[in-house]
Amino acid sequence: MSGKRLLSVVVPCYNEELCVEAFHAAVSAVMAPLAERVEVEFRFVDDGSRDGTLAKLRELRGRDGRVHYLSLSRNFGKEAALLAGLESARGDYVVVMDADLQDPPGCLPTMFEALESGGYDCVATRRSTRAGEAWLRSVFARLFYWLMRRLTRVDLMDGARDFRMMNRAFLRSLLSLTEVNRFSKGLFGWVGYRVKWLSFENVERSGGTTKWSFWGLSRYALDGIVAFSTVPLHLSFLAGTLACLLAAALCVKTLIQTIFFNEPVQGYTTLLVSITFFSGVQFLLTGVLGLYLSKIYLEVKRRPVYLVREEA
Ligand code: UDP
Ligand code: MG
Repeated sequence: MSGKRLLSVVVPCYNEELCVEAFHAAVSAVMAPLAERVEVEFRFVDDGSRDGTLAKLRELRGRDGRVHYLSLSRNFGKEAALLAGLESARGDYVVVMDADLQDPPGCLPTMFEALESGGYDCVATRRSTRAGEAWLRSVFARLFYWLMRRLTRVDLMDGARDFRMMNRAFLRSLLSLTEVNRFSKGLFGWVGYRVKWLSFENVERSGGTTKWSFWGLSRYALDGIVAFSTVPLHLSFLAGTLACLLAAALCVKTLIQTIFFNEPVQGYTTLLVSITFFSGVQFLLTGVLGLYLSKIYLEVKRRPVYLVREEA
């Protein structure tokens, strides 16, 4: 491959007024030595921020023609913002980065070279440590990755970040997945291609606070499992079958006892326990069904994933 490349830097931003400027400066500085070979364009997506993020982006745009931004009509969530950015990117290569500098710009040249070599279509990153993270959060994160590996066939790497650089072919495939409920970590894995993995140490946010609550992360994890696995449905079916078999056995036992051995009817406790237990199981299984149904409901509505209020 030859000629000058265009690299699109896609950055979802939600209340990142403290970070965007430093981010822009850091990426520009890292890419400056490669200016002969790569041109950079920034594709910031203001995901309905309530702070001065948009004002900062306008200002950056005024100073630097390489900066483009989309401002969404409200907060649609990181997945939606990411999609908006990817769809607007014009580069030969596209890299997805968080605005808070937790994705070290220092990795960009290595990622670029790996794609240039022609041996890879995508360079993905993972954190080698979870240092600085609450231990309970780490435990649940690990549990999630373990479950995903067990329940799905997509290859999710523990600690994988959304920080990735990809070529056009990879991006085209990614954008050809038209689902409305987008779980990017899974989609990245699902499309396949030749992926190179880089590791780096966890970096603390450069400013502001994380947008993820524990509840938010739990829902994200559940969404991920529902989006990539039907195993919970199969397990429901299995649990139902086992419950039926158990019920049939109990039935036969009770009939034999009453008919042949004339035993008086007993077992109030057994009755109570089994009724409550099985109604609990039924609620649970209906809940699993409901999870999938709710996703289908959201998919068939075909609502746009995001709406743009302003762009430049
Ligand atoms: N983000 C977004 N929309 C949201 C939440 C987050 O665009 O609704 C962006 C955020 O501005 C940041 C990236 O997604 O650039 C990752 O968010 P954050 O740093 O809060 O997550 P963490 O690094 O703590 O997992
Ligand atoms: Mg972050």
